[in-house]
Amino acid sequence: MNSRLLKALKAHQTIGVFSHARPDGDALGSQVALSIWLKNMGKNIFAFNPDPFPDNLKWMEPFFPVQQPDANVVNQCEAYVFLDGNKLDRFGEVAAQLGSSGRPCYMIDHHPDPEMEFDDGISRPDIGSTAELVYDLICEHDSSAVTAEMAKALYAGIITDTGSLRFDSVRPQTHRIVADLLESGGFSPPEIHEAIYDNNEIRHLKLLGAALKKIELFNSNQLATMSVTQATLDEAGCTYADLEGFVAYPLSLKQTKAAFLLCEKDGRIKLSLRSKSSLDVNKLARNFEGGGHQKAAGGWHDGPIEQAVKDVVDQASKQLN
Ligand code: 5GP
Ligand code: MN
Repeated sequence: MNSRLLKALKAHQTIGVFSHARPDGDALGSQVALSIWLKNMGKNIFAFNPDPFPDNLKWMEPFFPVQQPDANVVNQCEAYVFLDGNKLDRFGEVAAQLGSSGRPCYMIDHHPDPEMEFDDGISRPDIGSTAELVYDLICEHDSSAVTAEMAKALYAGIITDTGSLRFDSVRPQTHRIVADLLESGGFSPPEIHEAIYDNNEIRHLKLLGAALKKIELFNSNQLATMSVTQATLDEAGCTYADLEGFVAYPLSLKQTKAAFLLCEKDGRIKLSLRSKSSLDVNKLARNFEGGGHQKAAGGWHDGPIEQAVKDVVDQASKQLN
């Protein structure tokens, strides 16, 4: 199925492997596993991300070095693989220029509507995580190539992008892959789940308390927003990254079809959009300089935050009607 990409990768000796900016478990898990695999095949591999590992994924950091994309190092590569994103500018400023480098750019991703700026790759919006695609690619070559560290990284990718195996993107095959990973990785689920999810400091819970008070409901409770200002982050001693997972709270309301987290960031408003209905937040995000999946997407608004709430709710209401 992926034999063309496999052949293309095997033909290169020095490869740059990127994961998307502000990386999540799927981005880093896929990147770490693919990088180890290619290195074990004798390739020179440079793994790049413009941002650091989030705290709850730092346990993965020793598995493979991921560096900031310095143009001098990036330009030493003969080809690039982009993981868990389908637009070059999702991978940072250095990556955004690589489309015109003349070197092949391959994509492995599961977001809808990819940009046509890649030479080849795997694009499967029907699959729950990029980690599953990387696993399939590796197994097509040699299923015994999955080391314990690769298995842990891929498992983290799958559970973080599937809501711990509960989203509708989860297939019987997803569970088969997870079963294989548990076997080849020799780890138990709580080891990884606790590292990722039971990793709060007291400041996170203080911020959660403040953010829960900022939930507003619209359209007969079908839409919920959670607005977080810089002042709220400062008061709790937190940063934007500490909001990870918070949008699940407004989404958990019984009648809510979609929930939106809005946060002041870099002088603008970052939007984090989630749906548990047919409301398509990828479509919604495309009105706000963003994108993502049908049920999880993100974007930006120029602000102020009250205006962002109004505009996002207005656009979402149009889809409900
Ligand atoms: P989160 O809300 O967790 O930041 O992002 C959810 C999903 O939305 C991510 O998996 C990513 O695919 C997408 N996403 C988030 N922010 C952006 C953005 O600024 N641009 C695009 N194109 N996608 C985004
Ligand atoms: Mn993903």
